[in-house]
Amino acid sequence: MLTTIIYRSHFRDDVPVTVLEDMVVAANEKNKEAGVSGILLFTGKLFFQLLEGPEENVRAIYRAICEDPRHHNVVELLCDYSRARRFGKYGMELFDLRHYDRHEVLQNVLDKGTTKYQMFYNDRALHFFRTFVEESEKENYFELPSGDHWVFVPDSDDPSVRTLPGRYSESCSFAFQPIIDPLAREVVSLEALIRTPEGEPSQRWFEGLEGDAVYEADLKSKSVAFAMAKELGLGEQSLSVNLLPMTLVNIPNAVDYLIREIEANGLVAEQIVVEFTEHEVISRLDEFTGAVRELKAAGIGVAIDHFGGGFAGLLLLAQFQPDRIKINRDLIRDVHKSGPRQAIVLAIIKCCTALEILISAVGIEQPEEWMWLESAGVSQFQGHLFAHPELAGIPPVSWPEPREEVLL
Ligand code: C2E
Ligand code: MN
Ligand code: MN
Repeated sequence: MLTTIIYRSHFRDDVPVTVLEDMVVAANEKNKEAGVSGILLFTGKLFFQLLEGPEENVRAIYRAICEDPRHHNVVELLCDYSRARRFGKYGMELFDLRHYDRHEVLQNVLDKGTTKYQMFYNDRALHFFRTFVEESEKENYFELPSGDHWVFVPDSDDPSVRTLPGRYSESCSFAFQPIIDPLAREVVSLEALIRTPEGEPSQRWFEGLEGDAVYEADLKSKSVAFAMAKELGLGEQSLSVNLLPMTLVNIPNAVDYLIREIEANGLVAEQIVVEFTEHEVISRLDEFTGAVRELKAAGIGVAIDHFGGGFAGLLLLAQFQPDRIKINRDLIRDVHKSGPRQAIVLAIIKCCTALEILISAVGIEQPEEWMWLESAGVSQFQGHLFAHPELAGIPPVSWPEPREEVLL
């Protein structure tokens, strides 16, 4: 199938610009053999390229481009299918924008086109050319250092790190995972994640419950989370717990129960945040909004979890505004490589900033994911990169340190 990929990237500072000519010659040959057309724009610093041809060949060439050490921050902007080729000539055509008038360059690119209909009728590819040449989206290109710029050093001297001995309760246990502000070197909150008494995953704990029993068990389990938090010496540290939204709707006086258990364990309502998963909230929104009002009136914070995981996330914010939202791993994964993910995350950030809703990103595994999100304005993170959940314990945090400083 005829496939188009558009990406942009940064030329590496330490590569002489003269290698560009050789690169173009080699790519021209490679593309010709593969029946692929390439249009490459270069600003002296940034690349923008359209690749068009048979799907497998385009993908193979793009994979090789992603691996090429001569550039970095490769972001896929578009991957689409079409009936006819825009550029009929196989090979690669370079437009060095330093030698063109900005207004001419687009016309010069169009002159290489073969099917004018494709190019003129609201073609997304053409619009990407235009925004690149006019630099109208430039504020969304982040210059990231390479991933190995940072090392992640576990803070084993942290006095709060500890694990409770033995099996904690007959009904359930909890693993704790910090939500951190890496640059401020601060733990923002600890999230309690449910486990079976033996420490098996949350899924296993839920499997053992049938019908409405899940809501009762979900609520009661929170007293175990609070008791463990007390024993771990949480102090004034904020604690996040998860609840099914229907737990609050279905169980009478659920909020009173939570308040009682919070106080019985020497904690205060203001240090507790309850997280609800987005898609479960949306299905019974009106009843749920009432329950949230009760939580807020009791002083408990509210977060929307897995934000962006469902289809109605932004609409949800029109109905009520939580204290914080947590962007789901589904959106975070490889965000540094994907134009569509970046656009969605930037829209979420813009919306939440306007509403003064705090944002955290969950499931950070790669340094580049973290760096891109910091550049975009997110400052609170949770993920294996920084700390794995620790069963019945508080794990040490691996804080990012610039590699040079660590080596000194
Ligand atoms: P969640 O609230 O989004 O919790 C974060 C989940 O992501 C946890 O999975 C955690 O182990 C996992 N995680 C953290 N960092 C990473 C990472 O870097 N990569 C990957 N791949 N995963 C990471 P867990 O503990 O299995 O919990 C799954 C979900 O179960 C939670 O998602 C939450 O929605 C729900 N849950 C957990 N505890 C409770 C509870 O007490 N009550 C209710 N109703 N739901 C709970
Ligand atoms: Mn959660
Ligand atoms: Mn999750």
